[in-house]
Amino acid sequence: MASREIETLTQALARLPGLGPRSARRAVLHLLKKREAALTPLLRALEAVSERLAICSTCGNVDTADPCMICTDPRRDASMIIVVEDVADLWALERAGAMNARFHVLGGTLSPLDGVGPDDLNISGLVDRLAAGGVSEVILAVNATVDGQTTAHYLTDQLSGFGVKVTRLAHGVPVGGELDYLDEGTLAQALRARRPVA
Ligand SMILES: [Zn+2]
Repeated sequence: MASREIETLTQALARLPGLGPRSARRAVLHLLKKREAALTPLLRALEAVSERLAICSTCGNVDTADPCMICTDPRRDASMIIVVEDVADLWALERAGAMNARFHVLGGTLSPLDGVGPDDLNISGLVDRLAAGGVSEVILAVNATVDGQTTAHYLTDQLSGFGVKVTRLAHGVPVGGELDYLDEGTLAQALRARRPVA
């Protein structure tokens, strides 16, 4: 049996996404055995992030600076804004490394059934950024869910008066995807979004 302190640590870790009680116990045991190599660096990193944690007042990204690293990066193309539902989507697009643009995090999607309206999302911030000028394209990188598409339609309407090009992600056959394995929705969407052969 472990002490109360170790038990508290285990329970805190077990509540993290992707971890359960079993993984948490393994992680704690590792930290206890590797105090210098694992426990101390983890503690320092947690303290550093905890002290400086900030939500970017421009784009809604989570970072340790406001404005965030992306919004202050001079090498980014400030004329392009990629709109995402969540910071997790921003990170996923950054990992893909496909676009050197800036971002805007909505903080969710419109969901009439769940009572989520436009005022619950960071939409006014996006409108303000367009009103400030300098933006030529907004890419709506929302999920291909009903709520995601509802949100995309709403945003397209809201942004139509700014003379900015509004685009959406293509949905279709994934890289390496075999047609036989795709669901009907993906296949139908891929057919609708077909392009001329270059
Ligand atoms: Zn930012």
